[in-house]
Amino acid sequence: MELLEKRIIEDGEVLPGNILKVSNFLNHQIDVRLMDEMGAEFARLYKDTKPTKILTIESSGIAVGYAVARQFGVPLVFAKKHQSSNVNEGVYSASVWSFTHNQNYTVVVSKKYINPGDKILLVDDFLANGNALNGLIEIVEKAGASVQGICIAIEKGFQNGGKMLREKGYRVESLAIVDKMTDDGTITFRA
Ligand code: 5GP
Repeated sequence: MELLEKRIIEDGEVLPGNILKVSNFLNHQIDVRLMDEMGAEFARLYKDTKPTKILTIESSGIAVGYAVARQFGVPLVFAKKHQSSNVNEGVYSASVWSFTHNQNYTVVVSKKYINPGDKILLVDDFLANGNALNGLIEIVEKAGASVQGICIAIEKGFQNGGKMLREKGYRVESLAIVDKMTDDGTITFRA
């Protein structure tokens, strides 16, 4: 998506450790118009699907997830992050390795909000090694629901999450795929 790539070039900062910082439109301050455009683009890409719910992970997935849910007119559910693995029986849970914080955390979704038979579009802001998405997929499977597809704002194509998920047979649509970033701030997108 040209608009998003342009914005990443203008405002993205490359940090050590292969982190792309996009705080001024996605991760801290949110450009709501850009979110609307992104939601519309995901709706166009997934127009052949009829999701019953959108599922994302707090906190940075929520804005993108909201934009997608708006387009399809379905609820947005976000998985909550817990520090401890102490979870109760009212939730579906999965353990996730955090790329940005270098630690494990538990993600939980109340059993009230995902039902057997739900058709789910998963959404996240970034795809790196795919751990967050694997956690969401585990939760969907535990609930007896199904994954219709995966919506990613920015995929870092030089990490293996996208390859791993596509090889497992999931449909992954990413609005921008970064193939290379260098410490001097040069960002190269997949054509
Ligand atoms: P993964 O689980 O695919 O390794 O990493 C994805 C998660 O880590 C996303 O939910 C996102 O919040 C965070 N993340 C991974 N890489 C980046 C990055 O380069 N920049 C930012 N802002 N977040 C990232």
